Amino acid sequence: MDRHSRNGESGTPPRDLAILGSTGSIGTQTLEIIRLFPDQFDVKALTCGSNVELLARQVKEFRPECVAVGAPEHAATLKNALTDTGASAKIVVGEEGLCESATRPDVDVVVGAVVGFAGLRPVLEALEAGKQVALANKETLVVGGTLVQEALEQGAGRLLPVDSEHSAIFQCLVGEAERTVENIVLTASGGPFRERAAETFDEITVSEALDHPNWSMGAKITVDSATMMNKGLEVIEAKRLFDVSLDQVQVLVHPQSIVHSMVSFSDGAVKAQLGVPDMKVPIQYALSFPARWEAPHERLDWSEVSRLDFEQPDPDKFPCLRLAYDAIEKGGTAPAILNAANEAAVDLFLDERIGFTDIPRAIEHALGALSPTPAPSLEELYAADEKARRYVEELALPASN
Ligand code: NAD
Ligand code: MG
Repeated sequence: MDRHSRNGESGTPPRDLAILGSTGSIGTQTLEIIRLFPDQFDVKALTCGSNVELLARQVKEFRPECVAVGAPEHAATLKNALTDTGASAKIVVGEEGLCESATRPDVDVVVGAVVGFAGLRPVLEALEAGKQVALANKETLVVGGTLVQEALEQGAGRLLPVDSEHSAIFQCLVGEAERTVENIVLTASGGPFRERAAETFDEITVSEALDHPNWSMGAKITVDSATMMNKGLEVIEAKRLFDVSLDQVQVLVHPQSIVHSMVSFSDGAVKAQLGVPDMKVPIQYALSFPARWEAPHERLDWSEVSRLDFEQPDPDKFPCLRLAYDAIEKGGTAPAILNAANEAAVDLFLDERIGFTDIPRAIEHALGALSPTPAPSLEELYAADEKARRYVEELALPASN
């Protein structure tokens, strides 16, 4: 493995990792990076919601000290699966287990790759405990952005973006003074329905929504990409991460997903970060920063790139984008209401209990009906999340009868 070890820096002690959500799309790709650089990392904690079979294989391979699973029955299954393997990890359960994994004294770096609101508290606690967090879980920043900011200001923690657009912006900003940023352009693939007629959106099936043209990802973010809520969440994520105003963040549809995002500066210069759509590149950068490590990821082949297209998003076809702007403008718990309503609506759509166009409809109803609380505490965010989920589930009840 010498070929892949960190250029000219052998002898650096390995970094101790906790990977929250190790069985998901980001989690498994993080483990692929660790396989490429085995001398750089020591995996101390792995966690999953319910995919115990895959987690057991990961435990046998990476030998963590601690594993967290979503529920007690999964802990029992995991214990059985590990009998006679020699793996002796401590098994912890639920949100407490995630938080324990994220704050262990023997962990330096936490990869936040849980999907949804469930990732918020462990990431906050990791930052409060002074960990470096490589964050994929954008919902954490959407819901709890101000608490994350406070944790960063008070503690020794540090946040590095994994989301490809935010990694691109972060890479464009290396060596630049933040005040020289004029505006940020977040690129969006436009998802599978960019060219589909709006009149047929009511007929969109789950398998059509899960068929993303450029990226292979978990189910929730794939549906978010199809509704373009993903880009709405990313606008909020960019605002929180880079401390810019809303009107400094522009969304541009770029169907080839080669330009991952761009930054315009006060002298008229524009920087962009490009590459093939492969999450392993931003995951690795969040782990290697400030270094770049030589890696065999796919290279951009310019003989195959004949054009790069850009167009404005269609606000009528993709109302989720506007809903996200509305929520961040309202502030307080409004982004938490937006996020919870979206998570609940996407679950209902995946269960085929509501249609595709019911997703933005449900979110709009929830944002209209539930009034936001300003400057929320963590408890108030939990209450807003719970209330908005219940609201959307109740909204869907007649359709299921
Ligand atoms: P995924 O569904 O593939 O994986 C989610 C992981 O979280 C799994 O390990 C699952 O077991 C775990 N999990 C789910 N619910 C949980 C709960 N309640 N408690 C504990 N663990 C739970 O999702 P993903 O596509 O890897 O996305 C993870 C996060 O990264 C999301 O926030 C997503 O928006 C973000 N992200 C993903 C991609 C991508 O390419 N997949 C790109 C950018 C950002
Ligand atoms: Mg993204």
